Amino acid sequence: MDLQAISLVRSSFKAIAAVPDGPQTLSRSFYALLFARYPEARDFFPAAMDEQRDRLIAAVEYVIERLEEDSGQILAYLAQLGRDHRKYGIEDAHYVAVGNSLIAAVEQFPSTEPWTDELEQAWRDVLAVVAATMMDAANAESGPPAWGATVIEHLQVRKDVSIIRLQLDEPMTYTAGQFVSVQVPSRPRMWRYLSPANPANDQGVIEFHVRRVSGGWVSPAVVTQTLVGERWVVGSPLGDLGIRYDNGRDILMIGSGTGIAPLRAQILQMSQRGQDRRVHLFFAGRYPCDLYDLGTLWALAEQNPWLTVVPVTEEDQDPWWYTGPSSVAIPGMHRRLTGKVGQVVADFGTWAERDIQLVGSEAMINTTKFRLHAAGTPPENIRHDPSY
Ligand SMILES: Cc1cc2nc3c(=O)[nH]c(=O)nc-3n(C[C@H](O)[C@H](O)[C@H](O)COP(=O)(O)OP(=O)(O)OC[C@H]3O[C@@H](n4cnc5c(N)ncnc54)[C@H](O)[C@@H]3O)c2cc1C
Repeated sequence: MDLQAISLVRSSFKAIAAVPDGPQTLSRSFYALLFARYPEARDFFPAAMDEQRDRLIAAVEYVIERLEEDSGQILAYLAQLGRDHRKYGIEDAHYVAVGNSLIAAVEQFPSTEPWTDELEQAWRDVLAVVAATMMDAANAESGPPAWGATVIEHLQVRKDVSIIRLQLDEPMTYTAGQFVSVQVPSRPRMWRYLSPANPANDQGVIEFHVRRVSGGWVSPAVVTQTLVGERWVVGSPLGDLGIRYDNGRDILMIGSGTGIAPLRAQILQMSQRGQDRRVHLFFAGRYPCDLYDLGTLWALAEQNPWLTVVPVTEEDQDPWWYTGPSSVAIPGMHRRLTGKVGQVVADFGTWAERDIQLVGSEAMINTTKFRLHAAGTPPENIRHDPSY
């Protein structure tokens, strides 16, 4: 991709981001133009657009930031996104509509940057590569655009956490550690990312662990209202977490809350395949009761000598309002440690020879990366998806 064009687009977007409320203004203007010029596009979006607007800006920023640094990786991500977008029924013409509306919104933005022919061409060039990568990947895909799935089990393991198992209409091929977008019947067109907690299998059973986010549109409905028999829609797999079988390195995994799901999927897969590299898994939560899946992980550690599971919580006691069973230490298993997980992990050393995966909230990922960097961990060894 043309580096000059990327650089122009980056500084143009940075100028917008530097204006107070700039990205939100750009996003509002983009959707207004898109829906005015291409009214049929409105059907692809939910009635409430606030979250959607934030997602658009986050996605544009994510792509623009990475274009320059590692085009291979971002192009692979865009290809995945193109395959995933087939679930909307999007066609090539829609990419053109989105590109034109975004360029018009940038042009109309009251920015300090003058809008020149060169800048317009740079935006056109960059968006053309983005659209072509997504369209090519979508058009080359022969699998279903999305998978229908029936809920076969709903276990509410905590007031705010549910484990939901579904039977896919046909098995999906995904790499343990990837995530998918999901649409539930009570929240049409409000797709949310969830990470399968089990590896892909011929039976087509997929399991999600969902935490209720207070004030959220979708997760409270999933945790409190999901019924056996209801039909979900699941999009194509995304992300590149997963075991790197090419380098044979030992692995450090750090997951907090339901962030354990994609790590658990990988551990289950390793356990099925049989393997010889060591895996240290730190399972973190605020309270001991947040470690809702510790029993399964300990059972896996008992069967697999290569796996060490270390529970970590910020508080030593469960909160006063928690009325469920207390977690009981199992002889031979690592005792629970107390503290912020990033600090606890960094106190063990640099983990310099490990492939490291982090999954959890933005705050957890940022502080853990900071602690590991400070301890001397090479940053290139650390991988994570967009945060939860
Ligand atoms: C790659 C990826 C994988 C994910 N996998 C899982 C998974 O396996 N299980 C799971 O439970 N969730 C997972 N998530 C999070 C999930 O996609 C939703 O973002 C989450 O369930 C909230 O959706 P909502 O509709 O309830 O909230 P929204 O309506 O989207 O948000 C409502 C408000 O809550 C805030 N908010 C959103 N998420 C959080 C959060 N996590 N903590 C605090 N505030 C928040 C928003 O900023 C907003 O202000 C994943 C996210 C990503 C990016």
